[in-house]
Amino acid sequence: MAYNYKLRVKHLVEKASSSNPAVIAEMLSINIRYVDTPNNINGFWKRILRRKFIFVNERLDEWQRMTVISHELGHILLHPHYHHFCSEGRSYFASSRHENEADNFAMCLMDAYGIDPIYSYAFLQNGWR
Ligand SMILES: [Zn+2]
Repeated sequence: MAYNYKLRVKHLVEKASSSNPAVIAEMLSINIRYVDTPNNINGFWKRILRRKFIFVNERLDEWQRMTVISHELGHILLHPHYHHFCSEGRSYFASSRHENEADNFAMCLMDAYGIDPIYSYAFLQNGWR
């Protein structure tokens, strides 16, 4: 199944009146926590007591944090029952349709936010130190 990422992002941005992924998450009642994640984990999301949380590696740069939030938003919106960890270099051992879809969503949203998809793609695929 192919999603129309651009259209989905456009609708979200309009609804939130912002292309900032953190603002969009807030609109969707998703809590964001910047934490000291285990080695090589850039972010993940979890449902805790019926609330949704996105956990982001606090050591990342601002645009990288926003890219992680965008990727996790992609999972929550496209695959609400899929949980996973996004780690640096995950493409070596975990390349799935879900990951590619979340990456595509993230690149569209980051593009709307003003980050060239070349950067978000490289970061999502390989990690970025
Ligand atoms: Zn993922």
